[in-house]
Amino acid sequence: MGSLKIENVKKSFGSVDVLKGIDLEVEDGEFVVFVGPSGCGKSTLLRVIAGLEDATSGNVLIDGRKVDAVPPAERGIAMVFQTYALYPHLTVRNNMSLGLKQAKTPSDEIARRVTAASTMLSLDPYLERRPAELSGGQRQRVAIGRAVVREPKLFLFDEPLSNLDAALRVNTRLEIAQLHRRLSATMIYVTHDQVEAMTLADKIVVLNAGRIEQVGRPMDLYNSPANEFVAGFIGSPK
Ligand code: ADP
Ligand code: MG
Repeated sequence: MGSLKIENVKKSFGSVDVLKGIDLEVEDGEFVVFVGPSGCGKSTLLRVIAGLEDATSGNVLIDGRKVDAVPPAERGIAMVFQTYALYPHLTVRNNMSLGLKQAKTPSDEIARRVTAASTMLSLDPYLERRPAELSGGQRQRVAIGRAVVREPKLFLFDEPLSNLDAALRVNTRLEIAQLHRRLSATMIYVTHDQVEAMTLADKIVVLNAGRIEQVGRPMDLYNSPANEFVAGFIGSPK
């Protein structure tokens, strides 16, 4: 379970209208990529979906329940940030375990989940290290592992690869795709990178200045962009 329905969501900061009426449905298990230029509202939309930010109007429903009516710990959402957001004083194992400890998960269950996630993400040799002793790619895998151990039904990724160099971006992208196949969770992934969008998405949502320009399968957007903006962004001449 991890379906999402966004109904006419608007978000303003003061007099600045950032989201201008977003409607979107995401099915359980789908991999949906939000693309659009810097400043178009991608991160804001992700934060509204997570319930970290209230919409000015409209609704976000996860499995039919309004997100802000459910306590954060019970939403089944885990978010992965561009900047990793790891605790520098904690080992990899403890960074991954902390949320589960706070949720009073039994310690043998925590150990089982950390082992499974670290195997999946090739982090076994690094479990007792601290973030400063890891490369950027390893840190981002720890941040992903911390999301995985929570066994969320909905993953939200906000430009998770943009601080990595080109080779690592490809590797980590493949790992995220593999994770999606294994976990069959719903994933929403924000990027401004067309290649990431084309290769990862079941469905791409093209955003521009707080509105959705087009939603569709990668090849459908590529072959039949709705307008010049989508054509320019997905890279097919119109
Ligand atoms: P993106 O992730 O697509 O680059 P953002 O969602 O971060 O875009 O930002 C969209 C717009 O909303 C930007 O103009 C940004 O300055 C503005 N914005 C985002 N968060 C805030 C905030 N907390 N207060 C005021 N303006 C904000
Ligand atoms: Mg952003």
